Amino acid sequence: MTMSGAWRRTARGAGLLAADGTVAASIFAEMSALAMRTGAINLGQGFPDEDGPAVVLEAARQAISDGVNQYPPGRGQPVLLEAIARHQYRFYALELDPGNEILVTAGATEALAATILALIEPGDEVVTFEPFYDAYGGLIGLGGGIHRPVPLRAPDYQPDLDALRATVTDRTRLIIVNDPHNPTGAVFARQTLELIVELAQRHDALIVTDEVYEHLTFQAPHIPITTLPGAWDRTVTISSGGKTFSLTGWKVGWVSAPSSIITAILAVKQFLTYVSAAPFQPAIAAGLDLPDSYFTHIAAELEHKRDVLATGLRAAGFEITLPQGSYFIVADATPLGFTDGAELCRRLPELAGVVAVPITAFCSPANRADYAPLVRFAFCKKIELLEQASKQLANLSRR
Ligand SMILES: *Cc1c(COP(=O)(O)O)cnc(C)c1O
Repeated sequence: MTMSGAWRRTARGAGLLAADGTVAASIFAEMSALAMRTGAINLGQGFPDEDGPAVVLEAARQAISDGVNQYPPGRGQPVLLEAIARHQYRFYALELDPGNEILVTAGATEALAATILALIEPGDEVVTFEPFYDAYGGLIGLGGGIHRPVPLRAPDYQPDLDALRATVTDRTRLIIVNDPHNPTGAVFARQTLELIVELAQRHDALIVTDEVYEHLTFQAPHIPITTLPGAWDRTVTISSGGKTFSLTGWKVGWVSAPSSIITAILAVKQFLTYVSAAPFQPAIAAGLDLPDSYFTHIAAELEHKRDVLATGLRAAGFEITLPQGSYFIVADATPLGFTDGAELCRRLPELAGVVAVPITAFCSPANRADYAPLVRFAFCKKIELLEQASKQLANLSRR
């Protein structure tokens, strides 16, 4: 059958397609398929290999039995909106109006999509840090925005403040912050967060902050940028239950912001999914109300996993920076004689029975060369698996 060439004329989507009209193969899908095919240990994609808290799982089963199975309200179920407000108050002393200043979404991904599409006009500039979560680049493109990345570099992956000052201008509409940061594991210094607020004020830009790893920090508690002086009025805060409760398949996320901004985001969100995840919403509410001990325990447990994998990677000959948060360690393969992380990732199953992803997957094409020898390993996996992966990676230095 011959195919019409009409897809080439699609205004936005074509930019996300490969030259042959297929969805540009995501390196994540390619690496997960490689792990399946070779039986290698998958430290590529960032999903945990254990389910979240039993009470949260049970609350979802109960909600299904209780008939919470039809369209929930557009902004989210009141029980979840109120739990999000309580959570923001308990951890950050933020007082939110659950009826007007919070919106429930289909994961942080829909929150990002609705926010970016609601707040930019074609031609607006959007600043992110690079490497960046891949959805940011795709969504800025869908919104017709112009992406202006500010580089994060080893060893600490903190942005150069002069580079940040030079990139934010009167043309900047949004500054997207991801703190704690995927893929580098950086937690931004307070001074950096303050500068972002100052620049947003000076240039009348909005701040969008993706805080899905808010509870997974190892050195110091998370600081939401919206709590800084002058930030609240111009900040959209995004989080999700996926990472905090090890339930990445549930896709329950949320946005908090001043009510007029929430209304604009809702106006877009209603035509993306309208609503989602009815029985999972009360279950995530139960999760958000878990005692402090749950939240400190998950961070401590993950820190231990980080240390196990970090030891393994160093012993294998990689150069690493210990991440301060998130699920991930970035490793530099240069000392092992690899200058191309994508090439290393394709060979890693055969060399060590492990799968990772190259950092270039998180970079704009123009800047990939700067990050070429770096690969990302996920440590949100069982300790035994991380120990086994470490043992196998030791083969690399014995080649
Ligand atoms: C996992 C992740 C998301 C997506 O969250 P969902 O709730 O699964 O949509 C967004 N941002 C970052 C930085 C992530 O790592």
